[in-house]
Amino acid sequence: MTRIPVVAGNWKMNFDHLEATYFVQKLAWTLRDAHFGFRHCEVTLMPPFTSIRSVQVLIEADRLKLTYGAQAVSVTNQGAFTGDVSADMLAKLGCTYVLVGHSERRKYHPEDDANIVDQVRAVLAAGMKPILCVGESFEERRQGIELEFAVGQVQDVIRDLSDKEAEQMLIAYEPVWAIGTGMVATPQSAQQAAAAIRSHLTDVYGASVAERVRILYGGSVNSSNATQLMMEGKDIDGFLVGGASLDAEEFATIARLT
Ligand code: PGA
Repeated sequence: MTRIPVVAGNWKMNFDHLEATYFVQKLAWTLRDAHFGFRHCEVTLMPPFTSIRSVQVLIEADRLKLTYGAQAVSVTNQGAFTGDVSADMLAKLGCTYVLVGHSERRKYHPEDDANIVDQVRAVLAAGMKPILCVGESFEERRQGIELEFAVGQVQDVIRDLSDKEAEQMLIAYEPVWAIGTGMVATPQSAQQAAAAIRSHLTDVYGASVAERVRILYGGSVNSSNATQLMMEGKDIDGFLVGGASLDAEEFATIARLT
């Protein structure tokens, strides 16, 4: 089955709402130019909460072929949770995706497996798609247990999902040591991890569900390594891009190569 690749720009804590507007205009212009070089790939932006509305307004006004999402979500839907943003609020802003379990969230916020499962449930219940981030640290790689580790993280989160829910998931394999370091995984090891994750999904849900789930690679992706990662990654269905997504031309080039 053909899976439509996704290139997701994780802006992290960058771009206020004015910078976001400027970026989207520039990206739209660059992609318009590149339209014919484009394989059928979905380009999605993950702005900080405060910039989502500006991105939405521009995409709707100019009917841009871009989607967008959020970088985090609360597990509760409403009430006395100062500083939190609910899945319903994000869905009402037209978000398609929400990142769940990004390693920076696991590190700087109290997000453990139970909390991540609840986030996935909240995102699915609001009709959006979770992008579950998994991946080993340098230490696990050194011990040679990177595949077990990444698959284990997937296993911990998906175990109670129905087939229908599982199909809505995207999984981003992002080795922690590759994030923001310029040290990209080799195409072979990225493919190996994606294949191990898909094989686990096949064991749990069967091939027809597993073949539908899009698995992204993330960690120092740029326009120089994207082609190789895609070419050698038959289980890799696109990228989660951090640093390189902040430059509209670079990001557009990655999308063109995907
Ligand atoms: P990076 O970040 O592309 O800057 O390595 C990826 C991510 O954290 O999603």
